[in-house]
Amino acid sequence: LVVLVMVLRADRSVANTTLAVLTLISIAVAGTMVVQGFSSGSRATPAEARYVPPASAALPQLSCIDDLAGDAVLSACEKALFGSAESAAAAVAYAANQITLLISLGDVATANKGAGSDLMALRRAVERDELVILYQPKVDLRDGRVVGAEALIRWRLPGHGDISPAQFIPLAEESNLIQEIGEWVLKRVCRDYGAWQQQVPKPGRISINLSLKQLRQAEFLTRYRSVFDESGVAPSNFELEITETTLMTEAGRMVRLLDELHAMGLHLSIDDFGTGYSSLSALQQFPVGTLKIDQSFVRHATVSREDATLVRTIIEMGKNLDLEVVAEGIESQQQLDFLRSRNCHYGQGRLFGEPMTATDFLQLLLAQVRGEEGYGRMFAGG
Ligand code: C2E
Ligand code: MG
Ligand code: MG
Repeated sequence: LVVLVMVLRADRSVANTTLAVLTLISIAVAGTMVVQGFSSGSRATPAEARYVPPASAALPQLSCIDDLAGDAVLSACEKALFGSAESAAAAVAYAANQITLLISLGDVATANKGAGSDLMALRRAVERDELVILYQPKVDLRDGRVVGAEALIRWRLPGHGDISPAQFIPLAEESNLIQEIGEWVLKRVCRDYGAWQQQVPKPGRISINLSLKQLRQAEFLTRYRSVFDESGVAPSNFELEITETTLMTEAGRMVRLLDELHAMGLHLSIDDFGTGYSSLSALQQFPVGTLKIDQSFVRHATVSREDATLVRTIIEMGKNLDLEVVAEGIESQQQLDFLRSRNCHYGQGRLFGEPMTATDFLQLLLAQVRGEEGYGRMFAGG
């Protein structure tokens, strides 16, 4: 294991071809050590029990996956050597997941007969209809009613499962594919919305994420306009989410663009608010109607005084500027109670369930129309 750690540290290119074999060996060895660890019960400490993937796991490009897998194997070995039994087990599971993804992408590349760059694989995915949209309900924190949803794209890679947009959107941004994917998302969401409207009078407002590269496309406005015209669904049913960092990157240009989008009837929101560096005066120039508090602050608001203060301040600021405030990433009842006690308007998060298919979201809306309880029990206390 020590040799393997040293080899991987010295030369990452080894990872490309021999990674799968090395991983199997290391997983077997690490697995044995885990079993030993569990049976002796001597090295486990609660603090180490939750394995946090290496920071590079957040690296967005698929071409980095072999590197990520390399990191994961390395980490698994290190955990097995020096860490607790639980942390090693979690690290091994993470490494196995990265390898599965690597192998799946390898399969796609082989199927593409050598044309198999990550970008080609993604292009094929678009052609083969492997992209899907899931909807995460947005809930009114005053009464638990569903007031809309956020559309989140996934790449449903056969044999692997879903790949997160954080991994493949940056790849699409390296070419015009981002434009194609962006239009596909809008068309699909308009199509789903049209279908919901047949059965529910007001399906609520649906938000769609936009990245900087999409907004930079020369044809962006014209193309978006024509998608709305063709779909027959009014733009006022939708909200575009733009991250705080994107807004501030080219603030002057963004103001003009956002003014045009706003004039079309679209709502605009600032996503991941709190992670960028917007000034209050800049904020007032944009025709935004909503601030979405980044989930990292929400996650710690019940345990960290600093994050609690930050969340409270954003809510107050939003109210004073006449903006709606949405808290992202609500995972626990305590977080929900905290946000409600601070009069946060809206929220999203796993507490209300994982992002769901268009059909499941329609069922949720229909149940609400029938007056069924929905999320009501979580709101009983206030
Ligand atoms: P985002 O817009 O900030 O979306 C929120 C992310 O948090 C989503 O990840 C969602 O699944 C996840 N999430 C929701 N509830 C919880 C929770 O309670 N706890 C935790 N830990 N996470 C939660 P996802 O779907 O992987 O999307 C990642 C990012 O990819 C999005 O961040 C958004 O910036 C981008 N994205 C998603 N769909 C699209 C798209 O259609 N186009 C573009 N350009 N970007 C997209
Ligand atoms: Mg978003
Ligand atoms: Mg966000």
